Parts: sequence; structure tokens; C-alpha cells
Amino acid sequence: MKASPEGIWNECLEQLQSRVPDQTFETWFKPIKPVGLDKEELTVQVPSHFFYEWIENHYKDLMSAVLKQVSGNGLKLAYSVVYSEDAGQPATSGSVSPDPGIVRRQQLESFLNDRYTFENFVEGDNNEFARAAAVAIAESPGGTSFNPLVIYGGVGLGKTHLAQAIGNKCLQDRNAKRVYTSSEKFTMEFINSIKNNKTTEFSEHYRNVDLLMVDDVQFFQKKESTQEQFFHTFNALYQAGKQIVLTSDRAPKELSGMEERLLSRFQAGLIADIQPPDLETRIAILQHKAQEDGIDISYDIIEFLAANITSNVRELEGALIRLLAFSSLSNTDITVDLAKRVLREIIGKSFSTSISIEDIQRTTGEIMGVGESEIIGKGRKKEVALARQIAMYLCREMTSSSLKTIGLHFGGRDHSTVVHACKVIEEKTQSDASLLQQLKSIRHKIEISQF
Ligand code: ADP
Ligand code: MG
Repeated sequence: MKASPEGIWNECLEQLQSRVPDQTFETWFKPIKPVGLDKEELTVQVPSHFFYEWIENHYKDLMSAVLKQVSGNGLKLAYSVVYSEDAGQPATSGSVSPDPGIVRRQQLESFLNDRYTFENFVEGDNNEFARAAAVAIAESPGGTSFNPLVIYGGVGLGKTHLAQAIGNKCLQDRNAKRVYTSSEKFTMEFINSIKNNKTTEFSEHYRNVDLLMVDDVQFFQKKESTQEQFFHTFNALYQAGKQIVLTSDRAPKELSGMEERLLSRFQAGLIADIQPPDLETRIAILQHKAQEDGIDISYDIIEFLAANITSNVRELEGALIRLLAFSSLSNTDITVDLAKRVLREIIGKSFSTSISIEDIQRTTGEIMGVGESEIIGKGRKKEVALARQIAMYLCREMTSSSLKTIGLHFGGRDHSTVVHACKVIEEKTQSDASLLQQLKSIRHKIEISQF
């Protein structure tokens, strides 16, 4: 029988359902629709851009693992996002089928993502120079002395965004051939081309472009033959007056394990750094993102987030998304209090002050179908004992109570009983996937009930 997108996706869903808490499954996986399948990829449709990002950020590895298991080969996942055509338009009366909207394909990884534009790149003192150089190049690829343009800076500061914005802007010139790749992908393709005797095709592919963007060149470090190959590609393009854009997580002179001649090529053009954004820029970025995603959020909260998340823009975005997810899952408004909780999680402090041992006992009992009094009591029935051990384990994980205190809350048991319970649960969850899942749903429910 020929595989259908629905068939494959349904099998994936089964797998996913057993691996994530129900709520997560309902919220993030149920709404996904399989829409296409070819030899290389399964295309699924997701309801919004926000949705797509959330999945990519949180479940990418899980999804690929499941897809691999189900398809038995290297099937990739591609997304298409439904953009509603005009939310303000009244629906035609009598029409029952939902407007399919415009389906725009999100090209992932190796391709340009049209989300990254100059328009939605917020300018600040930290990135002003890199941005200006990028704009100049996009307007006249190969036509400035900024060749190559090397954009460098720490993680999550907007290097990829800028490189892709150049590529997207050049789209206006339809005939220009643009290639965006990462140095990792370049390396992989090069290795494959050697394996398959296709080095000529490989070189041609890269040498016949008008604009070459290579992201994260620090991955070329210590890969000598790839560097050699890249050096030739670089020269060919450079001599033909084609534009090259490179990004790196450190300054070119700090790239070790890189051939001198390549480094000197990198340094021959323009090197522009991006620094972490200052408070004002962080606020502006958050305001921009909130507006983009249609999130109604007060200035106080934005300022609070911006003041506390200082290192990188990806984390800022993450905080906003998390806040939105929590508020929609728990059906509450986004308040400063909620923001504090979310933040506490992001910057690594636990919930310990707000979650009580009783909360954990109650929720564990509910989900495991065991009464709260039984959890505290002396009963030795298998399911009661297991629920008790899980509750003890979670108390140790989620509260700051001492083992002694935890024991006391479980009918005056000794602290060594708690230690034993934690060990048992740790061991069991290593091998028992359904137990692990149960544990996850309990924890999730406890967290959610805090809001
Ligand atoms: P890098 O490649 O430097 O690790 P990215 O370009 O992937 O970082 O940026 C991380 C996230 O932060 C992206 O979603 C990007 O859109 C966003 N971002 C970074 N800088 C800005 C900015 N100045 N304005 C708007 N969004 C930004
Ligand atoms: Mg990047």
C-alpha cells in the first residue's frame, strides 16, 4: 500500500500521544493537519506562525525522532502555515467550511525564511552598524566594497535574521540566484558529494550564484578539506564580483583552526559586530514582537521582562511566547504576577515557594486515581504505594522542603523513606515510558494550577 500523509501522521500522533502529557498533545499536536507527502518530506499544516515556532522550539527533536521511527527513513518535516486572509472580514452567511486562508510555505533550515526581514528587525545602538551594512548590500549585492560582509556576535542576537533579510530583500531581483546555507550544511553536502562522486555538481551549485550566504562559519573550524573547498568557492565568487555574506559567533581573528588564507579573505571585506541589546532596544523588540503576534500586553510587563532578560533576543522572544502559552492554557490574563512566574522559570529558579506539598499530593492522587488520604496513609496496595512514591519524588523536585519535612507530611514517615521513593521513581522512569508520561502530566497539572 502506498503511504499517505494521513497514514503516516496518524501513526506519529499515536507515538506522540504516549510521549507527552495529554494537555500538550491536545494543544500542540491535535490541531496539526497532514497535507502532503513526497519521497523526502511530510508536509503538515499548522494554524499560525506562533504555533509553528512553539513546536519548532519545543518539540523539534521529538517530532523528528517520531517521524524517523514511523517512516523508517530520513523523512523530513515541512510546515505550511495558514494565514487568515482578512480577520476583520465578516464570514459569508451560510458558509460552514472554514476559510482555508492563504497557505504559505515556510522553508526551513537550508532556505530563506520570509519572516526575517529588515522591516521587522528592530534597530538599536547594538546592531546599527551591522544593519546598515546589510541594507546597503541588499540594495546592491556585489556592488559595494563590503565583500564579504561578516556579521559576528553572540547567540541569539540577530545574525541569522540579518543574513536572511539580505537574501529576502534580494528576492526583488527575480533572476538573482541566492543561496543561503550554514557551514554545517555546506560541510555535509561536500562530504556527501565526495561519497557520491558528485563534487563537480557540488562546486557548480555553489559557484553559480549571485549571492552566497553562509551562516555560522565557526563550524568550519578544523575541517580542513571543507575549508579548502570553501576557499575555492569563495574565490570564484569573489572574482566574479558576487556578494558573499558570512556570519560567525566570534570575530574572524578569534576563529581558531581556520586556515590563514581563508581568514585573510574574511577580513578583506567589512566586519560588523552585533552586541547584546540595551534596555531600550529590548523594550522596543518586545513591543514589536507583541504587536506582530497580536498579543495584548501592557507596557509594565514588557518593561519588566526587558529589565530581567538581558542576554539575548531569542530568550526575550521565548519569554513572550511562554507567557502567552501560559495565559491561554490557564485562561487568565497576562499580569505582572504571571510574568514573574514565567520569568522565574526561565531564569532558572524553581517554583518552590508557591507549590505546596498538599498541592502535589492532591494532584498526584487525582491523576493516579488514588485518594489523598490513601497517599498519606499506611496502605500498601501497589497503586497506592506507587502514587505515594511519585508524590514524594515530586515534592523533592518541585518544592524546597527538606526530606524530613516531606516525610512528616506523608503520615510522619522517615526521611529515608523519601530518599528510597525518589530512587525508585528515578529508576522506574528510565525504563517505563508510560510512567514517565504520567509523571509529566502530573507535574504539568501542578504547574498549570499555580496560575
Ligand atoms: P543568531 O543567528 O545571532 O543566533 P537569530 O538571528 O536567530 O540570532 O535571532 C534570534 C531571534 O531573535 C530571531 O527570532 C530574531 O528574529 C530575533 N531578533 C534578533 N535581533 C532582533 C532585532 N534587532 N529585532 C527583532 N528581532 C530580533
Ligand atoms: Mg544564527
